[in-house]
Amino acid sequence: MIIPFFIPNGGCPHRCIFCNPERTAGPQPERISAAHFEERVQAHLRSARRRPENAEVAFYGGNFTGLARAEQIRLLEYAGRFIRKSLIHSVRISTRPDHIDGEGLSILKAYGVRTVEIGAQSMVDGILQAAGRGHSTADVERAVGRIQREGLRAGVHLMAGLPGERRGDFEYSVERVIGLRPDMVRIHPTLVLAGTPLAERYRDGNYEPLGLPEALGRCKYALRRFAEAGIPVIRVGLQSTPEIEKPGSILAGPYHPAFRSIVESSLFLDMAVSVLSAHFVCGRQVVLTSAPGDESRLRGQRNENVVSLKRRFGLAELAIAADPGQAKGTLRVAVCG
Ligand code: SF4
Repeated sequence: MIIPFFIPNGGCPHRCIFCNPERTAGPQPERISAAHFEERVQAHLRSARRRPENAEVAFYGGNFTGLARAEQIRLLEYAGRFIRKSLIHSVRISTRPDHIDGEGLSILKAYGVRTVEIGAQSMVDGILQAAGRGHSTADVERAVGRIQREGLRAGVHLMAGLPGERRGDFEYSVERVIGLRPDMVRIHPTLVLAGTPLAERYRDGNYEPLGLPEALGRCKYALRRFAEAGIPVIRVGLQSTPEIEKPGSILAGPYHPAFRSIVESSLFLDMAVSVLSAHFVCGRQVVLTSAPGDESRLRGQRNENVVSLKRRFGLAELAIAADPGQAKGTLRVAVCG
């Protein structure tokens, strides 16, 4: 269980061109008070059916390590009260790669932080510059190394479709992030959010976001490569919130509330095509078996994969089965009849 707190643009030296945390997270209190913190954590803990073993408090939406140190400690101390009572396990923060130093990391660790997620967004310096990030890819490399040397888990955020990015640039970024061996990754297709400099560029005709198929294609590449490298991808696509769903929040871009599930279904379709191509299946009955958690991805949205495979291979019948013995992310085929 993650109990999120948002510090919209807290500690940020400036605003990156695509960023508008008010649109993504919704209205937040100006200052997180002890009472607000306590109330929110208790509400989350109460909502769990069983006491969660690894409940984490997260500070998102800003540059946590850019906050004044006293402010960081004030917030971490709120979480510390729950950690000492064993009600929550640890804290995670998101922050910028150019605000990571050894002393700061030791303080975070002493106050219960176990995961530091950094916004890399791209591993191409020219693209970072065009996005107004104000840091370099070398900062990302240094930050991941420092976080992991401190014994903390490092997360890396990547974006697809930043201004000037070609598909090859994104794939290059994925490969460089794999080389850093982070503990987890998040991937976000770039959206044009209201109230951002990117929205002005879009209106002026100086930026065109990715279409949904291209964004899906890039994220599919990333998911496949990170899976092959054994690096968990903990999010793909922006979380659907009432705020983001409000008309006028997203002006343009490849938003879909079930973005990840579409990407994963498409990966399963590719896998099924490759498996079926190796057998003579035309006019026959086929059973595809996946792990139980993968069944709906294998079927695709509204059974689209099943319909498409039946048509493509001229199958008499295609059944989907689940087997707890089947490894996640894999499938096997049985041809009968
Ligand atoms: S550093 Fe992160 S939170 Fe701050 S402006 Fe840039 S994207 Fe937004």
